[in-house]
Amino acid sequence: MSTPTRITHLVAGSPWEGTAERTSEVYDPATGEVTGALDLASADLVGEVVEGAHAAWLEWRDTSLTRRAQVLFRFRELLNEDKERIAALITAEHGKVLSDALGEVVRGLEVAEYACGIPNLLRGGFSENASTAVDVYSMRQPLGVAAIISPFNFPAMVPLWFVPIAIACGNAVVLKPSEKDPSAANAVAELWQRAGLPDGVMNVVHGDKEAVDALLTHDKVRSVSFVGSTPIARYVYETGTAAGKRVQALGGAKNHMLVLPDADLDLAADAAINAGFGSAGERCMAISALVVVEPVADELVSKIVDRMGKLRTGDGRRGCDMGPLVTAAHRDKVASYVDAGAQAGAKVVVDGRDGDFDADGDGFFVAPTLIDEVRPGMSVYDDEIFGPVLSVVRVASYDEGLELINANPYGNGTAIFTNDGGAARRFQHEVEVGMVGINVPIPVPVSYYSFGGWKNSLFGDTHAHGMEGVHFFTRGKVVTQRWLDPSHGGINLGFPQTD
Ligand code: NAD
Repeated sequence: MSTPTRITHLVAGSPWEGTAERTSEVYDPATGEVTGALDLASADLVGEVVEGAHAAWLEWRDTSLTRRAQVLFRFRELLNEDKERIAALITAEHGKVLSDALGEVVRGLEVAEYACGIPNLLRGGFSENASTAVDVYSMRQPLGVAAIISPFNFPAMVPLWFVPIAIACGNAVVLKPSEKDPSAANAVAELWQRAGLPDGVMNVVHGDKEAVDALLTHDKVRSVSFVGSTPIARYVYETGTAAGKRVQALGGAKNHMLVLPDADLDLAADAAINAGFGSAGERCMAISALVVVEPVADELVSKIVDRMGKLRTGDGRRGCDMGPLVTAAHRDKVASYVDAGAQAGAKVVVDGRDGDFDADGDGFFVAPTLIDEVRPGMSVYDDEIFGPVLSVVRVASYDEGLELINANPYGNGTAIFTNDGGAARRFQHEVEVGMVGINVPIPVPVSYYSFGGWKNSLFGDTHAHGMEGVHFFTRGKVVTQRWLDPSHGGINLGFPQTD
């Protein structure tokens, strides 16, 4: 076993040179080996980094839009050149297969491309002669230091949902990535400096609750963008807003895929496999509840089981379809739901706990698992499992399926599979979920739309990236101007009116 590599903070463009009081272990989930020793930031260190970011912001906010766009374009080029290396870092610490890791880098890259258009995105409005000889115009200005706290499951893409837009809008950033797979965030952050971003505008602090709490309460942090599980999202929202910050906190999910009897069942079976087992189910947009309207459930289940038999689970560097779970503890938790489902009366059709895994060592694997006859009230349905466990819920009608989805406390993503345009149109209107797919199982919005769920999947009201991202990272200002001439004299204590 080789010595774990030290992984540390990136402060003002350089690796931190101090000595950490606390560290945590980073694993290769495919082999079970400890590969990294991560420095965990103290509250004092977080405070120093925020102060440094604030100082850098004072200059960056006045940097011209042209110059900012040039940095963004260069960053985009560097990220594109480096995407395979970053994907390999993701696979080594998260476990997802290489093609999937590359996919997340590319989706993050698209947000950088969107942010390259910042001069256009920040254009204000101008109304000449709103009142006689009075012009009114609007502008958007940066906030200051933006804190971004990200989860383990998209170590490159989720930070990239926020960082390029925050920087393009003229803010400085302190990113706190997941402590489970920190290296990709560092690798992407280093590119900013190579792209010409001034030191201190982009910083990475690694850590746990202590670092997060320090960010949530520091007076120079002006906004918090959080992505993670629902209990922590709620905590971050409540703590951050109580401290007077603008907060967007994206939480967990339980995504349903509704299959109507007229759907193309082969297409639906492929989609259920891809969305249920891709990235070992560790996606906030993974489908975990397959809601099938009778009488097609038996046929659909049988098509899914056929396809599951062809999937290869193992080391993500070996061309497998699916990799391991992120930690041994998470693997054990996911595995425990299989027994819980069986005990509650569901039918375990494919049990992935005893799979044959293509990997060396002692990786954290559970193979694709299918549980039928699942109902609300069973933990396998009620909880976000965040693993490769697909539950089939049989319903009698579209209405029953819709009611089930709308009763769920989460509202991140959902999908309907049907060939009936009218039913699909009704679904998109009636379903209480933020992101909807029609014959698309993982409806992750493109960068120029915004990503975000409803209900317990989002605290705050602003989604990530797109124009909502630009609004989140800026404050609006409206100027009313009149260039005085002698005719404007006179006293009038009335409320200003347009005429
Ligand atoms: P998590 O909530 O455990 O951790 C997220 C971040 O919060 C990490 O940076 C972590 O260090 C920090 N954190 C953990 N515990 C904390 C505490 N007690 N106090 C303060 N900070 C704390 O989430 P995770 O396991 O890394 O990620 C998986 C979860 O994220 C799933 O629930 C998934 O659905 C969700 N997720 C949601 C979206 C979305 O867009 N809605 C996207 C990706 C992931």
